[in-house]
Parts: sequence; structure tokens; C-alpha cells
Amino acid sequence: MESFIKTIESYMDAQFPILYIDTMEYDQIESDVMDIAKRFGRGVIRWGQRGMRDYADNSFAKLELTKALDALLGDPKGLANRVLIIEDIHFFIEAPETIARLRELAQRINSGELEDCTAVLVAPLGNIPKELGRYLTIIVPDDLTAAEISRMIVAFAEEQGVDVPQKDLLDQLAMNLKGLSRTEIEQILSLAITNDGVIDAGDLDLVRSQKQQMIKKSGILEMVQVKERMEDIGGLENLKDWLQRKAQVFQNITKAQAFGVDIPKGVLIAGMPGCGKSLTAKAAAKMFGMPLLRMDMGRLMGKYVGESEGNMRRAIQLTEASSPCVLWIDELEKAFAGVKGGGSEVTTRLFGNFLTWMQEKDSLAFVVATANKIDVLPPELLRKGRFDEIFYVDFPNEGEREKIFEIHIKKRRGKDGWQKIKNDRLQSLVERTKGYCGADIEGVVRESIEAAFVSKKEELTTDEILQVISHTSPISETMKEAIEEMGKQYREKNFTPASER
Ligand code: ADP
Repeated sequence: MESFIKTIESYMDAQFPILYIDTMEYDQIESDVMDIAKRFGRGVIRWGQRGMRDYADNSFAKLELTKALDALLGDPKGLANRVLIIEDIHFFIEAPETIARLRELAQRINSGELEDCTAVLVAPLGNIPKELGRYLTIIVPDDLTAAEISRMIVAFAEEQGVDVPQKDLLDQLAMNLKGLSRTEIEQILSLAITNDGVIDAGDLDLVRSQKQQMIKKSGILEMVQVKERMEDIGGLENLKDWLQRKAQVFQNITKAQAFGVDIPKGVLIAGMPGCGKSLTAKAAAKMFGMPLLRMDMGRLMGKYVGESEGNMRRAIQLTEASSPCVLWIDELEKAFAGVKGGGSEVTTRLFGNFLTWMQEKDSLAFVVATANKIDVLPPELLRKGRFDEIFYVDFPNEGEREKIFEIHIKKRRGKDGWQKIKNDRLQSLVERTKGYCGADIEGVVRESIEAAFVSKKEELTTDEILQVISHTSPISETMKEAIEEMGKQYREKNFTPASER
């Protein structure tokens, strides 16, 4: 919290007109701001939905926001040497009458007409209208550290008159509660005590299930149930070997770190559609033995200034709170296309946050980002040191196509079914499917099995499959130009090939 307070102080010192503190912890933040105001020798006026209080004489007026601002702006000196706290601004900030008044306030402060005045908006980040963007500075309170959370748990237990957990359990609880806000932590602790009157090891499960709830409610992250295993992926041997090594590090993280091994950060898997990128992200979580969180870029990108940044921050908090975990960022490129309200500036800032997190994180969250198109990705994202490695997934080669046929035929027709195809003209299948992606091959297998069944065949035959292939258009044909262009870009970038060549 210290750096957060320093940040506010330095902005006040530098006469920034409006600070927007993105929080739901009103009590804590407002008391911090009031302390700061006191240190600056400034009076405090606070507007909340029930009215406005001037702490100089403790007077209270039942005024709605616009009326309150009119009253304050109407008195030329009334706001000098003051901090004006406004709560719940997210409900009002889009209204033209609010915009006009806040802008006027900011302009008066900027011009020096109003001296030593700062408006501090305390609310979850809302949709900041462009007209106000240049006057507002968004400040995000620091996450609670594990030590702060431990202290909170101790204080809470004492207050409730229950036993304070032993050191080990306290540490574990604190680790598991990281990334959550004060209110959220208090809710979970209350629930723990209501359940059985104690805070004990059994409550770790409660913490985890509550966290899952929060993830669901966030609407940005999704907990994915994974069945896929590495054996379900045909080919991509380089990528699989690399992931296997990282999994070994994660599974022995304490020893690895003591040995001096860096905690793996993550991988970017870019490449052709339908070639197993998502499949690999899922199988990686299974191999690491960690839960998989999927971040939907489309949903993360909000329409308004500040909205996507808030979402990104929340996603990072929840990821940290859920670690050890694998964070799968699906269709990374979506973040960089069609952003409304701020265009590329927003995404650059947004990814600034993300890259800093990637760079600095020491939590056990392994990022797997997948992307089909890389031409829209900013170069700094592709620079070495962000991701541990960037892999390029191409259309499967001959050996890989054979493996993919094997996987999908075995899955549906068992070992014997596969043996029959293998002993027949497997090579012709492999040759005839050049330019097919994994998903195309799976489609062919699925369709041939259905065709064999419907035409009352005893078993699946190579002829049946060849028949389906003859009327199938693989993605490399249906999207020929786009695919060729993508191939060119990947070759230029010199990414590490996911397959053995
Ligand atoms: P991408 O994410 O690269 O667009 P996916 O991983 O979603 O592609 O692939 C779609 C489906 O195609 C997978 O669920 C899987 O059934 C099949 N598939 C794709 N590539 C492979 C592969 N290399 N091995 C086995 N199946 C594959």
C-alpha cells in the first residue's frame, strides 16, 4: 500500500486535477486519502450518493452530484486547498452534465485559478468518456502482499475470537488469497468461520472454490476442464519436448529454484489455424498438472477508455490468485484488431501492463498464448525475453499427418480399426492430405466413419477415407491467399518450428 500512497501524494503535489482510484474498497481508500489530505494541510469534502459533507465544519447537504458540483464551482474559493472525494462516479461519469462539470473543475485547477485542489474519484473503473480522458489519472491500489494478508487473517481471527491459524497454514492461506481484495478476503474468512467455527486446513478448499466463483463472475476468465493429453497431439515434437522440460521445472519448483533455474514465464504458439495450438495449450495444463484458465481476448477488450485495462488487471489478479496455474490467452491477436475508443494507444497501454507483468511475475502462472495471425501483433510482444520461446506451428508434415490419422481413427475405431488402415494404403492417405491441417484430417476421419456406418459397411476402409478426401477442401485451399501470406510472415520471423523438420 505504501507505493500507492506515495503515488497519490506525488500527483497531488504536482497539481494533477483529477485522480480516479479504481477500487471497491471505499472505506480503506477514503481513509488513506483523508490521511494524505491532512498531511498536505488540506480540508476534505466528500460527496456520496446520500449527500455531501464538508469535514471543515462537518456540515452536510443532501445534494445530488450535479447540484453539489454546481454549488462548489459557484463558490470561487470554496474548493481551494481542498481534496474533493467523489464516490461511485462510475454511475455518473458518462452523463454530459457530469462531464461538463468535471471538465470545468479540471480546467480551473490546471489554469491555477483554483489552487491546491484535487478531485479524487473513488469507484470501480467505469467507462471514461474521451472528453475527460486527458484530465483524469487512473490509479490502481497495490494488491495486498502475502504478509499483509497474513496480518489481516490474524486480526480477523482475533476479532472473531477464534484460534489464529498456525504459521504454515497461515502462509498457505495467504498465498491462496493473493490477488483478492480486502472485502473479498473478509467475505471468505467470514464464510470459513460460519461453516465450522474455525479457520483450519479444511478452509483451503473453501478458498479455492470461492476463487473459482470469482473467476466465473469476472466474465473474462474461464476455468477450462481439460481431458486432452500430449498423446492426443500428432507431431509438434519440438514443442512437446520443450513443454515437457518446463513441466519438470514446475513439478520440482523448489529444488529447481534452489538450483538457480528461472521460473518459466510462458510460450507463444503462433501458426496456421486448426493445427493443434489450442489442443497444445490444454494438454500443457494436463502435463503441468495445473488448472487451466482461459482468457478471452474478445471479451477483455472493452469499448471504452480504461475498461479493457481494468479487465486486464482483474484477469491478472485472478490469475495470480489462482496460481499455480496455466493461463491460456486464446487468439491473442484479437486484442489488436478493431479496438474502439482509443485505438492502438489503448492496446499498447494494455499490453504494456501485460508485458510488465510477464517480465516481473514470480508467481507460478505459466502463460500459453496462441495466435493465428501475427502481423497485427506489436514487435515488442515478439521480442525475446517476453515469452521464453515463440513456436511456429505449420501444416503437418507426412509423418505428422500419419500420427494425426492414427490418433483420430484409434479414438473412434480402436486399435484394430487403425491396424486395418495401417496395413492397407496408409501412404496414399498421407500423400493425398498434403496441405490439410489437423482439424481437416479429423473432419475427414469423422465423416468417413459416418459414411461407412450409413452405407452399412462392416468396417472403415481406406477407400472410404479416400472417397471423402476427394470431395474435401482443406483450409489451405479455402483460405489460400490468407494462408500463403501467413506462411510468408512466419518464415520471415524465424520462429522456432514446433515440429521436427
Ligand atoms: P488451432 O488452435 O491451432 O486453431 P485446434 O488445436 O483447435 O487448432 O485444433 C482443432 C482440432 O483439430 C483439435 O481439437 C483436434 O481434434 C484436431 N487437431 C488439430 N491439430 C491436431 C494435431 N496435431 N494432432 C491431433 N489432432 C489435431
